[in-house]
Amino acid sequence: MAVRKIARIDEEKCDGCGLCVTPCAEGAIELVNGKAKIVKEELCDGAGFCLSICPTGALTIEEREAPEFDPAAAQERIHARLEAGDVLSCHKCGTKETEKPLLACRVNGEGVWVCVKCLPRLIHG
Ligand code: SF4
Ligand SMILES: [Zn+2]
Repeated sequence: MAVRKIARIDEEKCDGCGLCVTPCAEGAIELVNGKAKIVKEELCDGAGFCLSICPTGALTIEEREAPEFDPAAAQERIHARLEAGDVLSCHKCGTKETEKPLLACRVNGEGVWVCVKCLPRLIHG
């Protein structure tokens, strides 16, 4: 255990939409009884990529005591997800996460994934 950054889910704000489950590339988040939960703390790297995908603002990053991030286990989860065909794609051009890095963005209050090529257009119009 170490004091480190890790995602926090506000149960009151979470409406169980599930948008954060796949975006959590590492597979740390699952829906349990209609609410997002960090089921495996060692899979959350605390980078906060998931935050902007949440439409209700339920996700934040906090600093607290938690098991250390396990990069090998996280990679394994990502690999298994891609193998299963659960691949994220760019909301603008459809480019898959396996082709280009994608970033979570909030557009008109909606959480979407955008590739690095489309991101400048999204920001600057
Ligand atoms: S994206 Fe936000 S509201 Fe939706 S399940 Fe995840 S934490 Fe809950
Ligand atoms: Zn794109």
